[in-house]
Amino acid sequence: MDPQRLRALDVAHEHARAYLAGLAERPVGRVPDLQALRRSLGGPLPEHPTEDTVVVDDLADAAEPGLVASAGPRYFGFVVGGALPAALAADWLVSAWDQNAGLSILSPAAAVVEEVTGDWLRELFGLAPSVSVGFVTGGQMANLVGLSAARHHVLARAGWDVEASGLAGAPPVRVVVGEQRHATIDRALRFLGLGTASVTVVPADDQGRLRTDLLPEALAGHRRPTIVCAQAGDVNSGAFDDLGRVCDAAHDVDAWVHVDGAIGLWAAVSPQHRHLVEGLDRADSWATDAHKWLNVPYDSGIVFSAHADAHSSAFSLRAPYLVHAAEGEAREASDWVPESSRRARAIPVYAALRSLGRSGVAAMVERCCALARRFADALRAVPGIEVCNDVVLNQVLVRFEGGDGEPAAGDDRTRGVIAAIQDSGVCWMGGTMWQGRALMRISVSNWSTTEADVDRSVDAIRHAVR
Ligand SMILES: *Cc1c(COP(=O)(O)O)cnc(C)c1O
Repeated sequence: MDPQRLRALDVAHEHARAYLAGLAERPVGRVPDLQALRRSLGGPLPEHPTEDTVVVDDLADAAEPGLVASAGPRYFGFVVGGALPAALAADWLVSAWDQNAGLSILSPAAAVVEEVTGDWLRELFGLAPSVSVGFVTGGQMANLVGLSAARHHVLARAGWDVEASGLAGAPPVRVVVGEQRHATIDRALRFLGLGTASVTVVPADDQGRLRTDLLPEALAGHRRPTIVCAQAGDVNSGAFDDLGRVCDAAHDVDAWVHVDGAIGLWAAVSPQHRHLVEGLDRADSWATDAHKWLNVPYDSGIVFSAHADAHSSAFSLRAPYLVHAAEGEAREASDWVPESSRRARAIPVYAALRSLGRSGVAAMVERCCALARRFADALRAVPGIEVCNDVVLNQVLVRFEGGDGEPAAGDDRTRGVIAAIQDSGVCWMGGTMWQGRALMRISVSNWSTTEADVDRSVDAIRHAVR
């Protein structure tokens, strides 16, 4: 390749380094000026070529005002990780190599990295070596894949081949979910033709945990194909369903248990927090994210199934021109995910795990949880601030009381304080509605967040309250 053309990579590298060097001190959160971005990025479709270096340079300059420092150390909105340096660098290589990681013949390296990374992840989470794995774009797709395997399995046991026959005329599938399930569970049920209106909803307790005392009743009645969705790590409170009890009750009626562990599966890696996922290994499928707590660049999620046959029945892909390795020779990634051609998404996960090691992953999880407790302790000491959840993981829910103690005044006050914090540029927290009240969410998920970042952010919150 013409070395001159590769100069665009140097330009990108310089911009990336400058961005990362300034990330920690960049104002966190941006008031989006979409019109300005449209002006600088827009214009008519170019008729003629533009030099590569100019394209990259202009793009970086024009996009810059619209970038959110969500990968930085004081972004506590949603559940957003940053990018570990080794994972980010590996991700650059993934683009440079431009491998199609769908089939082993297209990239033996990507195929073997998936094998190795799958082994490492199973070991980290305490899952059996026979558990199958798929590397997908995030928690949404991991939930979809896990529930696809579930749908196959429960219907196959009822004598129905859903892949061949579809759902028309199939035995009805009962789906039991917790009240506080993540919205992506419902969307997966939409994709799967199982629908969202017909689910059986089990009420949650004050922390958002599925009430396992009510589960046997929800599962009662004649045995029919049943899927139970449990959660490890509520997106608001960080709470964990009692996975052991869910598995016991569900398996009593031959139901499949899918665990949405987008955040909370990582608790399994930490000796301090492992008790929260007790019973995890008895579930039938698991979903998690790598782009959240493992701090791998977007987008990256992982799905596991205890029933590899159900998993591959739902996804295996064959066509006369697609060359598959001989049985047992190599793992064909596209048999475990919805995509055919795909990015070598396991490579940054591999790099993250190698750069941290098991102890490093555990330390990162424990550090984030300790920082969440630091937030909670500091905020509890401020008059007019209530910490509303048991801080068992990395999530803190905060309420700011209104003057007269009326719920509506508290809602307004909480929204107002959130807006003031966001305006400060020091840190960024978002809001939520939780059990009928407006609350502020704090999610500590970034590898680079320090105690000093938390203390600076607490000061910004105190200032906003004043
Ligand atoms: C974030 C999240 C998801 C969705 O994951 P994406 O990576 O955004 O697709 C699902 N479940 C839970 C509990 C989550 O926190």
